[in-house]
Amino acid sequence: MEQPDQPTTTDALLEGVTMNREERAAMEVAEAARDGAEGESFAGRLFMGRYAPGMIAPFPVQREEDRRIGDEMVRSVTELLARDLDPDEVDETRTIPDEVVEGLKTLGVFRMKVPTEYGGLGFSQVNYNRVLMAIASHCGSTAVLVSAHQSIGVPQPLKMFGTEQQKQTWLPRIAQGALSAFALTEPEVGSDPARMTTTAELSEDGSYYLLNGVKQWTTNGPIAELLVVMAKTAPKMVRGKQREQITAFIVEAASPGVENLHRCDFMGLRGIQNGIMRFTDVRVPAANVIWGEGLGLKLALQTLNTGRLTLPAACTGMGKQCLSIARRWSADRVQWGLPIGRHEAGSEKIAEIASTTFAMEAVTWLTSHWADEHRDIRIEAAMAKLFCSETAWRIVDQTMQLRGGRGYERAQSLRTRGEDPWPVERMMRDCRINTIIEGTSDIMRLFLAREALDPHLKIAGDLLRRDVGLLRKLRALGPVAAFYLKWYPSQVWGRWFPPRYGSRGRLASHHRFVDRSSHRLAAAMFRSMVRFGPKLQRRQVLLGRFMDIGTELFVMSVVCAYAETPDAQRAGAVALAGVYCRSARRRIRESFRGRSHREQRGANTLAGDVLDGRFLWLEEGIIEAPGAAAAPDGAPEPVPMRMTGTDSVPR
Ligand SMILES: Cc1cc2nc3c(=O)[nH]c(=O)nc-3n(C[C@H](O)[C@H](O)[C@H](O)COP(=O)(O)OP(=O)(O)OC[C@H]3O[C@@H](n4cnc5c(N)ncnc54)[C@H](O)[C@@H]3O)c2cc1C
Repeated sequence: MEQPDQPTTTDALLEGVTMNREERAAMEVAEAARDGAEGESFAGRLFMGRYAPGMIAPFPVQREEDRRIGDEMVRSVTELLARDLDPDEVDETRTIPDEVVEGLKTLGVFRMKVPTEYGGLGFSQVNYNRVLMAIASHCGSTAVLVSAHQSIGVPQPLKMFGTEQQKQTWLPRIAQGALSAFALTEPEVGSDPARMTTTAELSEDGSYYLLNGVKQWTTNGPIAELLVVMAKTAPKMVRGKQREQITAFIVEAASPGVENLHRCDFMGLRGIQNGIMRFTDVRVPAANVIWGEGLGLKLALQTLNTGRLTLPAACTGMGKQCLSIARRWSADRVQWGLPIGRHEAGSEKIAEIASTTFAMEAVTWLTSHWADEHRDIRIEAAMAKLFCSETAWRIVDQTMQLRGGRGYERAQSLRTRGEDPWPVERMMRDCRINTIIEGTSDIMRLFLAREALDPHLKIAGDLLRRDVGLLRKLRALGPVAAFYLKWYPSQVWGRWFPPRYGSRGRLASHHRFVDRSSHRLAAAMFRSMVRFGPKLQRRQVLLGRFMDIGTELFVMSVVCAYAETPDAQRAGAVALAGVYCRSARRRIRESFRGRSHREQRGANTLAGDVLDGRFLWLEEGIIEAPGAAAAPDGAPEPVPMRMTGTDSVPR
């Protein structure tokens, strides 16, 4: 329990900057939902200039028995999907055939994450992700169906935070085939759940809540039997202040008052059932609250910590598919007398596709193993999500470029005219969403920045707070000065004189680079803190750059450790790691150079002017896309959400 007079790192963050009421509320809710676990994070240490390669070496290896279980499931799922599921037809018809869903159910794919004592398969995260990787390499929509159900849907939070009674009630149902979904986003609330408007009001006798509100883009919502829904419950006084409470509920989708208003249609993942759901006076028993009142956002964020590990696995699956297509095509297609993969511009793309796929795989397996070991992987999971989702997009783009016009042509069209129906166009559409869902890339960087700065806020938080008296500041000064007078010179020293890592063979120079750059990063972040104080949190581009460097360093370390395993060495993985690390080093150097304060200020001013409409003249000469807000006088009303018709959702 926090003492009222004890300042927290959160206070340091909130007190130092002028914020409007909504911004402050958002920050307070986000801060209250922080996990606060005090683990030794490998990636977190990089931001403090402490590279500890021993924490990831030797690279974890799957136990033989666990590997056998995974092999069997991957083989069965691969056989089923290769035989019965045409992903391009899913894309065309927006339907995953019932027989395929039933087939997956029979294999146990929808209960992989349910513990065995409740009728599930109790898979490790490694095996679960191996299966997801295989599915995603074939059909993104099917991967999302499975993942939304288990990575973020009811089984995951229930396993982590449910009471025994709750587990006994719902997990066996899920094991028998009940599909689930996770409903956090609302029309007005995406990255900022503090402004959520869905409410859950407790009945007078305390036995049930009345749920009211609209949830948007709930994947599996239209077909789910069970939903995890986040809603606002009555505010509480915390440390003398009224604090918003967000609570998580398990809701039976068949309850009176639950409506599916619209099935959304997207650029990619066209087979998913994703909907807008309305809740009107839905009676939810008090026993359906997971973890406790006010813990809903914390639950959502912690669920996502592990849940978002599926995305790197899915991205790795796509990367491997791209590699396979790029290899086959670039070796065969001859232009200007050479296979296109042998021209230097083609080779560069192939090297990037292969080496970054290797990097994605390394990061996916490390984080999956660490999840199985119950390590604190908040930072590493966010980095894995950020890195793999951005990288997969780049890889698909490179593959499309290598395929030329055929990359842009739909698979069905290629098939019809007798060509290899490689679905690069569909993969590009399916893949783009990964940098947006389960935390956008910008939000991942903000999340990482908060975690990266935490050690400094813990040490020097009192000095940053405006509401802390002079006496307290003076008292804090001694320990803070003692720490930084030793720590900062060690960063400077470490940057210029890192260990040689002689025992690391061909990868020694990359280890050395990570060590040196982690000192450089720590020192640069510290100098920015001194320069900007609490206002540093407003410098999103600068912080984002630091987070990108930290992420690159993390990935480089993992890549080296992965390439150093005996199996990988035998397979020549050191070459993949070498190419990856050299390109990462170039990106890191560029990120350190960054943009000047002046350049950034200029961009900020210009963006403000654009938003204020000073450059409307630049938009002249186009046929403006219609918008509800900009509808001309006399234009018809915007189409309301459809309750019936082709996009309504039959239950
Ligand atoms: C196909 C699909 C499936 C989905 N599935 C689910 C699901 O199952 N359950 C669920 O609850 N939700 C789901 N979502 C919602 C998804 O998680 C959100 O789209 C995502 O969280 C971003 O929210 P938003 O789209 O409202 O964007 P916004 O929050 O409006 O953000 C728009 C842009 O502004 C940026 N931005 C926002 N805040 C800041 C800030 N403070 N600083 C800097 N930049 C900022 C964002 O990074 C983004 O680039 C799904 C969405 C899609 C499209």
